[in-house]
Amino acid sequence: FAAGLFNLEEDGFIYSRLANPTVCAFEEGLNSLEGGVGCLATSSGQAAFTHLIAALCSSGDNLVVSRKVYGGTLTLLQNVFSRYGVDTILIDSDHPCQVEQSINDRTRGIITEVIGNPMMNVAPLEALSRIARRQGVPLIIDNTFATPVLCRPIEWGAHVVVYSTTKYISGNGNLIGGAIVDGGTFP
Ligand SMILES: *Cc1c(COP(=O)(O)O)cnc(C)c1O
Repeated sequence: FAAGLFNLEEDGFIYSRLANPTVCAFEEGLNSLEGGVGCLATSSGQAAFTHLIAALCSSGDNLVVSRKVYGGTLTLLQNVFSRYGVDTILIDSDHPCQVEQSINDRTRGIITEVIGNPMMNVAPLEALSRIARRQGVPLIIDNTFATPVLCRPIEWGAHVVVYSTTKYISGNGNLIGGAIVDGGTFP
């Protein structure tokens, strides 16, 4: 059995950085709450964005991002990913036509929050998802503040949902964590 696991022929647990039963239980729980096809837990919300952007973007690409997202997300994009040649185009996601005009052939995602931290602005998810589909760009929604209790972004057209689970998913702020949920609807 172990040989099968190490040859990646069998599904199972061989090394905790890849997967372990505890993290897997959390991933399956959050995935089913969000209605996704798969979930990856990360060590923080910042780590979730880091994984996602590293997977989506190459040097020369850009992301169209609400200027009202969490400050740490903007810092990660503008101070870290800028050094790897990934540009951030800031927009006001309350004005979807601005979003559409900002997209170009190197845009690899639209990023906004369901409920903005700290402005509490609510994203027009249906309009953004129509633009994302028209333009062939994934709509990436940070659901940290709403949680699946208030909103399930995949049902409103999001392709990918990102979390800082440090906040309301933890409920206590006594741990740091994050997650990426894939809606399975973006090629
Ligand atoms: C806190 C927060 C993050 C970053 O998460 P960490 O777990 O602190 O790395 C990302 N998005 C939102 C909306 C947040 O509130």
